Amino acid sequence: MIVPSLSQHDVELLREDTPGVGQLIHFNNAGTGLALTPVLNAVKQHLDLEARLGGYEAAAHASADMDAFYTGLAALIGSKPHEIAYVENATRAWDMAFYGIDFREGDRIVTGRAEYVSNYVAFLQMKRRKGIEIDIVEDDASGQIDLKGVKAAIGARTRLIALTHIPTFSGLINPAEDVGEIARSAKVLYLLDACQSAGQIPVSVSETGCDMLSGTGRKYLRGPRGTGFLYVRDEVLDQLDPPFVDLQSADWIDETSYELVPHARRFETWERYVAGQIGLGVAVSYAIGFGMERIGNRVCALGAQMRSELSGLANVTLHDKGQRKGGIVTFTVEGEAPAHTKARLTAAQINVSVSNAGSARIDLPHRNLDAVVRASVHAFNTEAEIETFVKVLGNHT
Ligand SMILES: *Cc1c(COP(=O)(O)O)cnc(C)c1O
Repeated sequence: MIVPSLSQHDVELLREDTPGVGQLIHFNNAGTGLALTPVLNAVKQHLDLEARLGGYEAAAHASADMDAFYTGLAALIGSKPHEIAYVENATRAWDMAFYGIDFREGDRIVTGRAEYVSNYVAFLQMKRRKGIEIDIVEDDASGQIDLKGVKAAIGARTRLIALTHIPTFSGLINPAEDVGEIARSAKVLYLLDACQSAGQIPVSVSETGCDMLSGTGRKYLRGPRGTGFLYVRDEVLDQLDPPFVDLQSADWIDETSYELVPHARRFETWERYVAGQIGLGVAVSYAIGFGMERIGNRVCALGAQMRSELSGLANVTLHDKGQRKGGIVTFTVEGEAPAHTKARLTAAQINVSVSNAGSARIDLPHRNLDAVVRASVHAFNTEAEIETFVKVLGNHT
């Protein structure tokens, strides 16, 4: 099988559009993707327009660019544009779906060990508030969510399957499509956290079968910080009641009534970072222009190269799990705290991050880990950058 990847020329184009690559090696794309010139320009242009025309007037002027956000994201994940809501970040986007479910005492949520910290804390709050129960499905032997376990965990009171597609603290790519099949046949709501996967690998709402999906602008999509989105499938709209309403999400009818607006925009707020919405739209069409399959294949190949080269260093232990792995690489250096490894790399102008147990309570401690170094590659990174990184790491004495 031929795996389409980006050409050397494509990579050069990506780097030309990434001003930061001249200064440093950015392996913290799971934190924030390094800014893209076309996105920067779109955001700056809109801010300038606001200064010249006034904010409302600038928004009216840029209405086509604001609409391009919806059509772009719909094209990225294979939804309809009206199934997309613009939300200030992925956490609030996820919240709008989760807190929109009318949980009753005894309802159960099925989730896995990769679940994002803020999602899990929300489960705990709902447990405290309403008396719901949380069923954590164990990993299978490869380290991904155990599909038989998901099936077995579903019972009469299961209200929701919540899955993190790619965790923030591991190279794992969870089998979101297989979980979707189980959710569909059990007729249980399925909420997918695609924060790390959107922009890293192809993500399709029809293939994953998710009912709701949340994503952020700032990571692999390389959009502005303070932007995010929510997808809600038309068919489940009536099962959710937005936890907050405002003049964007609802029409005020009279003294005693309001009506929710049709479609996913009932999960939006009226006031928003307009330049960010336009910027994220530009980032999404930029990614689509190169092709998500080709971007995904390059990210996964660079991740695999990094793992393979790190495995050659005697004092480095890799911690990524799962059958399928992406561009997030986690490891520890023997005798060196992850924070020190990070500081050493920072001194060499290499950006990485540290994932701590505090944001992975049901995963890292479960594997006897307090913290891991996280190096996350993107398609604009190069094989040579990985070699430099491995050399710096190996210089540890
Ligand atoms: C970063 C992250 C989030 C939160 O995204 P924000 O846009 O910062 O709210 C949610 N889920 C996962 C898996 C993440 O990695």
